[in-house]
Amino acid sequence: MKDVEQAQGILIVGEEACAELVGRKEAFEAVEAVFGAMASGEARNFPVVREAIGHADALYGFKSGFDKAGMVLGVKAGGYWPGNADKGLTNHQSTVCLFDPDTGRLSALVGGNYLTAVRTAASSAVSIAHLARKDAKVLGMIGAGHQSTFQLRAAVEQRTFEKVVAWNPHPDMLPRLGAVAEELGLPFEAVSAEEVCAQADAIITITSAFEPLLLKDWVRPGTHIACMGTDTKGKMEVDPALVAAATVFTDEVAQSISLGEAQHAVASGALSPDAITPIGAVINGAHPGRTSETEITLFDGTGVGLQDLAVASVAARLAEEGGRATRVAL
Ligand code: NAD
Repeated sequence: MKDVEQAQGILIVGEEACAELVGRKEAFEAVEAVFGAMASGEARNFPVVREAIGHADALYGFKSGFDKAGMVLGVKAGGYWPGNADKGLTNHQSTVCLFDPDTGRLSALVGGNYLTAVRTAASSAVSIAHLARKDAKVLGMIGAGHQSTFQLRAAVEQRTFEKVVAWNPHPDMLPRLGAVAEELGLPFEAVSAEEVCAQADAIITITSAFEPLLLKDWVRPGTHIACMGTDTKGKMEVDPALVAAATVFTDEVAQSISLGEAQHAVASGALSPDAITPIGAVINGAHPGRTSETEITLFDGTGVGLQDLAVASVAARLAEEGGRATRVAL
């Protein structure tokens, strides 16, 4: 018995291999598929654990789940170490453990830092693909941190965008985002948050804000907004009145109402949880998605463990096929 387990070993897939193997296309397909599986009841996220450890100001936790359609079982462990940047390390640190759903055996350890960014960008990209107007031309970006360039690259592949307008609470961070837009051949304009709303057909918010950055009256009819920064109780990127006025979609309703952008509108009674649709229902064809050119659609992308497991499983498969993984016996 022991020999069999040692011969199978555990795949170890490093950050570098993940970045080489899992591109935007692979991430988009994996995330879209798992959102569909969640909505059809074939995939389920388990309760999230996130705790302050009382050391290094760190937040540490686990996101786990099982996707029966894709046969992916695992956990992403990690969190946020705010002092890491001074040590030349990424503040967000994570690793994905994948288990064989038939036996419970640990099958792979996959670096989770790059994959978190690419799966988060895939999430807003899936929302744009399914909910933005087909004729969307101007992309608005609110936020210019680590995630923002991933978001921009994935978003522009969903529509024939002709221009990017952006605002960030810390304007000095914007040139880095502008350089990516330029690399993608798109004109880039740094403007006010209100002007982003006045020009953009699709807007991504990806900040650590705790107060609304976008107000309801600024946003034009027909806009699609992907709110990606709010992933914790207390955070807020847009006016709760805007959330209440929009047609709201999410990755997972339970997270949307407790720690996502919809938490505030739901807490005040302005939005009923029943009015929030899992985007998987649109992917599966059970919900029409956008039903008019004037409706404001809002995707509350809270970030679920199954997204991490989906892209990690792609990384493990491609690494094995391409001989890019190390195999060790436990
Ligand atoms: P980052 O630290 O690299 O950038 C932070 C961004 O937020 C910058 O645009 C910064 O100007 C802005 N910001 C910082 N403090 C602010 C404040 N007090 N008010 C308003 N804006 C502020 O972070 P990142 O890695 O780019 O992540 C951005 C956000 O996305 C974070 O809140 C993170 O938790 C969240 N996130 C969400 C998911 C998801 O799946 N939904 C995944 C990863 C990260």
